[in-house]
Formats: sequence, structure tokens, C-alpha cells
Amino acid sequence: MKYSILILVLFMLVFLSCKQNSAAEDQMRSPNETQEVITYTEYSGSEPTTPEETEFYEPKVPRTSSALNGQMPNDAIVLFDGSTLDGWVTARDSTTAKWHLNGDGSMTVADRTGDIQTKKNFGSIQLHLEWKSPAAVEREGQNRGNSGVYLSGLYEVQILDNNDNETYVNGQVGSIYKQHVPLAFASTPSGEWNTYDIIYHAPEFNIAGGKIKSGTLTVLHNGILIQDDAELKGTTEYIGWPKNDAHGKGPIKLQDHGDNSRVSYRNIWVREL
Ligand code: MG
Repeated sequence: MKYSILILVLFMLVFLSCKQNSAAEDQMRSPNETQEVITYTEYSGSEPTTPEETEFYEPKVPRTSSALNGQMPNDAIVLFDGSTLDGWVTARDSTTAKWHLNGDGSMTVADRTGDIQTKKNFGSIQLHLEWKSPAAVEREGQNRGNSGVYLSGLYEVQILDNNDNETYVNGQVGSIYKQHVPLAFASTPSGEWNTYDIIYHAPEFNIAGGKIKSGTLTVLHNGILIQDDAELKGTTEYIGWPKNDAHGKGPIKLQDHGDNSRVSYRNIWVREL
């Protein structure tokens, strides 16, 4: 009896060891050795009975570098890195951008020189930018540290110094101007840098000019989700309802609010979607 129990225990140990080795070998095998390439887009057919039936290896995912600590990913289009304003023009007349190029990698709105916009046009994008309002607090409401970033040159994500500064909530910092109130107020103190990370899907129009799909905006402010796949109702008007005229790709525009709101920008890059 004693020997038979011992033999049974030994048998079980050998069995478990074999099973572990087999699992480790499976992990070490390259994908091509373990299975043929499977690509599919629909879940159909008979119910799979092995894990490999629902795993595929192609196409490979493109590799990029990180965007942590102010770095620009190596697959991004650099719009502003502090060295030049060459990629930008004055929005109203396409002349040279006249904002101040500072020596620290940033640029600042020059009083009443007008909005600036990228020379290049974009459709759907991931956009990163950093901004700050002046440390010196002047004026109030919409006239304190007001700027904004416009997707397709038409849809404004509001930039405003809202610290101890009340205004209408659908026009406060992080709002999609007069359309969507932000989910949270995530600003740094006046004079400190903020980040915006924006996912923009452009609206789609048919040949006749009718809108067939709304644009959407997702915005993270200093890493906090403040707009979650928000539907664009149309252009972000100061006075009037949103408009939905058909358009193609457009520039990224930065606002000169016209009230000496000397907002600064740095580290602007984009990835096309
Ligand atoms: Mg604005």
C-alpha cells in the first residue's frame, strides 16, 4: 500500500513537469512555428476550442517612440518645436505669422496680430499642444487669458484662464465652445503650462454637401478626460447656431482673442489618423 501511494505521487510529479515544459515551449516558439497566420474581421463559424484559433499575428503594428516627458513621437508631424514659425501663417490673409517667437521653445500671441494657422491642412488627427496663460492676472471672464485651438480651422476647443474667474460653463476652459461643457476643470495655476491631447474625427459630407456623419472630439487636459467622444453640432459660433457647410481638410488654427490675452504655446505635434 505504502509503495503504491509513493508510485502514484511520483507519477503525478512527472506528469505535471511535462505539462509545464510543454507550456514554456509553446511560449518560446515563434508565431510561425505555432500556427498559420490568421486574419479575420468577423466572429463566425463554429465555436473555437483552442486559444490559437482566436489569435493572429499580421499585420504587424507600426512602432513609434513615446510622447512622455514632452517628447515628440517619431511618427508625428512637428508643427512647432520652438525654433521657427515657418509652418504657420496669419489666418486672415496668409501672410507671415507675427506672433512672438520666444527664446525658450515657446511662442506667444502678439497683440492684435490675428489668429495663426498651419500651412498644412489636416483631416482626422491626434493633436498634442501645450499652452499657458500669463502669470499676471488681468481682466476677467472671457477676457482673461483667452485663446483656443480650432480643428479644421472651424471647431474651437477653448483655452482660458479660468482660475478664480467665472464665465459661462459652455465657454470655459476645455469646453467645445458653446456646445459641450468640459467634464472636469483641470487647469494648472495661472502662468503654468497645461497640456491638451485631442483626438479629432472630422465630419463627413456627401457630394451634395449634406453632412452624413458628425465630427467628434475627445480631449485630455493635463491627462484628465474632459471631452469624451463629444459630437460636433457644427461650427463653434460666438453668435448664432452651429453651421454645417461641407468642407474637406483644413488648418489647425490658434486664436488671438484680440484683448491682449498673451497666451503662449509650445511643443505642438500631430499624428494623422
Ligand atoms: Mg477662445
